[in-house]
Amino acid sequence: MAEEEVVRCDACPVLCRIRKGQAGACDRYANVDGKLVRLDPLVVLQRADKAVPFVDGQAWKGNFISTMVTGIGATTTYPDYKPAPFIVASQAEGVDMVTVVTEGIFSYCGLKVKIDTDRFLGPEQAAVRVEGEQIGHVTTAEYGSQMLALGGVRHLTGGSKKEGNVTCDAMLKLSNKEPVELRIDGGSTVVVQAGASPIVNGEREERMRVGCGSATIGIFARQWHGECDEVIVVDDHITGVLSEHQAGRFLDMRPAGIRVRGRKSTPGRYFKVAEPGLGWGGTNISDPLDIVEKIDPKTAWPGMRILMVSTTGEDAAWFVLNEKLIPEKGEMPAAVRAVVERIAENCEPALCSVLFMGGAGGSLRAGVTENPVRLTRSVKDLLTRVTCGGAPVYVWPGGGITVMVDVLRMPDKSFGYVPTPALVLPIEFTLRMDEYAAMGGHMANVVPLESVLKSQAIRYEPWQQ
Ligand code: SF4
Repeated sequence: MAEEEVVRCDACPVLCRIRKGQAGACDRYANVDGKLVRLDPLVVLQRADKAVPFVDGQAWKGNFISTMVTGIGATTTYPDYKPAPFIVASQAEGVDMVTVVTEGIFSYCGLKVKIDTDRFLGPEQAAVRVEGEQIGHVTTAEYGSQMLALGGVRHLTGGSKKEGNVTCDAMLKLSNKEPVELRIDGGSTVVVQAGASPIVNGEREERMRVGCGSATIGIFARQWHGECDEVIVVDDHITGVLSEHQAGRFLDMRPAGIRVRGRKSTPGRYFKVAEPGLGWGGTNISDPLDIVEKIDPKTAWPGMRILMVSTTGEDAAWFVLNEKLIPEKGEMPAAVRAVVERIAENCEPALCSVLFMGGAGGSLRAGVTENPVRLTRSVKDLLTRVTCGGAPVYVWPGGGITVMVDVLRMPDKSFGYVPTPALVLPIEFTLRMDEYAAMGGHMANVVPLESVLKSQAIRYEPWQQ
């Protein structure tokens, strides 16, 4: 092939030499008739703003259309001394604004994954693997959710080539809302997909618990009062025992004399009643009586009515003490069953949430301004709004521009990758034109919105923010 038919892509450090009719290593750029072309269209968000009625009460028939150019398909600034690919002038409520748009290449990035389940996924710090490669770890659990920290520069660049590539691929899929099966050392296999229920060891999780065992006691104590003599809410973290709990005391409940296993934290609240697992309330038990250590004959009485229930209401059993104070399983009364069903009703659907986190405080700032620290300060001073694919981001306090964004709020297929390996994230900085000029922005490269819309292949998406 003639040398002139090969184009060099310089949009990332890989510097692909692309033959005519072929795409580069990331499938985002191609050689089309000897020209380097970004294959995906530029994504532009539009929304119809609410029409304001005229003073005489007649509604205005037209719509105000707000338009935003996103970084999706925008190309990049690499090697970063160049101004951003699109620096777009527009007006918002009569104010001259500018949006600086680019596709950032992120080696320093990771995913925070929240999985709404009590089921045991794996011990804290355990390795999370795809294709046998470690791509992250289990981190601190939250209320009703297990948390994973995936990706990050160490897995992308600090291990073997395969570890980096597998990590990059898994992050790309999760960021683009696709499912990925994760295997956790010493724990479970879980299929994670943003916005979908987790599938733990082949079973789809339906419900997120209403609260911990103690909170469940607090919420439903009054509804159980008079119907049960004791309620034990089984939970891997905090198991609640109604008659001992402050809620039971407020209701003047008679002490029931049932001692559960584990470590008593405060009255009616017990830690570690069992090991973590896939059973009742995220424990490893399938028979709830396994957590009963003893029944005090001086306090308990024959005929005592006991409800044992999990924090989602998925598991529940009814017992009555016989003459020897041994619990006998029986038919749950309808009134008690109704409260168990109310626990389930109060559980939200179990979902996976995927938040992308990355540091935009590096060289891509040079595409915005000649004096990058001014962009950082402007973001911190709330003069510049950062968005990713038009979605709002959380900007971490402290140094740099470290952002976190919910991938579900971004348009589909927002993310790309390059084989260095690294993720490609669309990012936009929007601020007043006068502020942009003052921070040393690339004013000579500002173009009107209309000219961008005319000159590019555009994919319009609804602007939901
Ligand atoms: S991997 Fe993609 S962005 Fe990087 S040089 Fe090749 S075609 Fe260009």
